[in-house]
Amino acid sequence: MTEERLQFQSDVARLLEIVAHALYSEKEVFLRELVSNASDACDKLRYAALTDDGLMADGVPLEIRLLADTEARTLTVADTGVGMNREDLVENLGTIARSGTARFLEQLSGDARKDLSLIGQFGVGFYAAFMVADEVEVTTRRAGEAQGWRWRSDGKGGFTIAEAADVVRGTRVTLHLKPGEDEFLDERRLGAIVRKYSDHIPLPIRFGDGGDATTLNRASALWTRSKSEVTAEEYKEFYHHVGHAFDDPWLTVHWRAEGKLEYTALLFVPTLRPFDLFDPRRRPAVKLYVRRVFITDEAEGLLPAYLRFLRGVVDSEDLPLNVSREMLQQNPMLARMKSGLARRVLQDLVRKADDPESGYPAFWEAFGAVLKEGLYEDNEHRDLLLRAARFRSTAADGLASLEDYVGRMKEGQEAIFTITGDDPDALLRSPQLEGYRAKGVEVLLLTDPVDEFWLPAVASYKDKPFKSVTRGGADLSAIKAAEAAEANAEAKPAVADTGPLVALLKLSLGDAVKDVRPSERLTDSAVCLVADEGDMDMHLERLLKQHKQLDRTARRILEINPAHPLVRALAERAGAPGATDDLADAAWLLLDQARIVEGEPLPDPSAFARRLATLMAKGLSAAG
Ligand code: ADP
Ligand code: MG
Repeated sequence: MTEERLQFQSDVARLLEIVAHALYSEKEVFLRELVSNASDACDKLRYAALTDDGLMADGVPLEIRLLADTEARTLTVADTGVGMNREDLVENLGTIARSGTARFLEQLSGDARKDLSLIGQFGVGFYAAFMVADEVEVTTRRAGEAQGWRWRSDGKGGFTIAEAADVVRGTRVTLHLKPGEDEFLDERRLGAIVRKYSDHIPLPIRFGDGGDATTLNRASALWTRSKSEVTAEEYKEFYHHVGHAFDDPWLTVHWRAEGKLEYTALLFVPTLRPFDLFDPRRRPAVKLYVRRVFITDEAEGLLPAYLRFLRGVVDSEDLPLNVSREMLQQNPMLARMKSGLARRVLQDLVRKADDPESGYPAFWEAFGAVLKEGLYEDNEHRDLLLRAARFRSTAADGLASLEDYVGRMKEGQEAIFTITGDDPDALLRSPQLEGYRAKGVEVLLLTDPVDEFWLPAVASYKDKPFKSVTRGGADLSAIKAAEAAEANAEAKPAVADTGPLVALLKLSLGDAVKDVRPSERLTDSAVCLVADEGDMDMHLERLLKQHKQLDRTARRILEINPAHPLVRALAERAGAPGATDDLADAAWLLLDQARIVEGEPLPDPSAFARRLATLMAKGLSAAG
């Protein structure tokens, strides 16, 4: 029988280099990783056997065993799960396919001490075995296949694969322990590690061979226990296992639904964004079980896409066991469960949102943009989502709720004002905000691309319509100014009669603008652009153009500030004979200026430069 020698993928080699030097860090986590893989392998086989009962026809029960050989100084983690064939071995134990490990590599700082401490937090999957072993041997046979295989490596550069005879179904991972690692042969030590990290694994983990071997774990599915029987530590370890995650859960929601539909859900909101949060497939990551049997971790219809950051399990009492994953999606029970799950999670989020001690702002920073997708996708839970939503605003430093906003609305104010853009600081400098600021009217600063999509879909909150301050009229005249702001407003500077100037600008600018009008919303700036009431918001238009979803730009309205000295001076000259020619350059400069402030590209930058130079030269010669 020939033995083949293969090289590790370069990322694996790098990882093994680090793992091999893990001298003092929490080496015991290698067992957590191997047991977790064994348990996953049993879950996979149990599911596959639902539709192919030949796979478990040999009568070998699903279980995990730890076998210690004190003479050979080897520890074996054996499972009777799905096993691997040759391709599986090359693919799974020669490359880095999995999220957790890839993320570990991303976090590496190059500082050996810091990197080692990350191993405990992240786990490095199968490769963690090389923390305690100088040689690892994997014998395995895939369920339903006749040929067994042996994989062997010293964790330095490569591995060998050869055919193996008389291999039972499943996988045996044998570690030849490094000198000084004998503690991992001791039953009591192993039992303690198993209880610490793997107690929740619903399969028995036995120590030793044969029928009288002791069971080290509790071997009951954690989610079936009542809340009062589960410690925070146990929840956390379960989250790590089920979510392939290594941060702490920020929120744990564990409940049993009874009545028409019976299921148990144990769901976690992570502290950190999972790396695949913005994967375009937007698939939920929660595992579906049916009466304790693992079915799938890609149950598309189980949760709405905007809750894809959740990790955990849902265990249904009602769904049929022998249902294929494809058929599952059409099952009406799944849709009802989805609605119940979403409602319960959102209710908990709303409760957290109203609790100032809960750390909700950090949650919102991490997941708010995803949750907001629900505002246009899920009408049924829109009210809960609106209550959970938080926004930056011109009125407060932190995050504001819509309830806060409505409570702060001014007399005569009919709408919830918003402005959308890429960055909150830049938004705060927008000229369109000036008039609102002067009257003490709050504006929500929206900087997630998704904001452009839910705003038109939601339209209003408590009968107050959302209104962009960069589109349509400013709606400011009806709003009573705050008292302090009123004093300011009293001392209003002289205002120009803009009639002739507006006519002149329209004539000079022609088709370049949709309209020219005096502004209600400007107090400091001379000009700004706004979109017409029925047109698309300017920020959305830029966004769509960036993504090549749009190739034309709607014409803008140019608003001029009648109180601005420049506008006043221009207005005085606009009625004079020959003004149209004299002021043509100024007209274009005003428009280009407004475009620049808006972040819109200038259609003719060289014309802009020429006009500016001419004007500066005139100004200088007049001064000299
Ligand atoms: P992860 O468990 O996050 O996928 P690991 O490095 O722990 O990453 O394992 C890599 C892959 O190797 C697993 O996804 C699985 O396909 C395979 N594997 C590891 N251990 C076993 C096992 N005991 N039985 C079957 N497959 C296994
Ligand atoms: Mg693993």
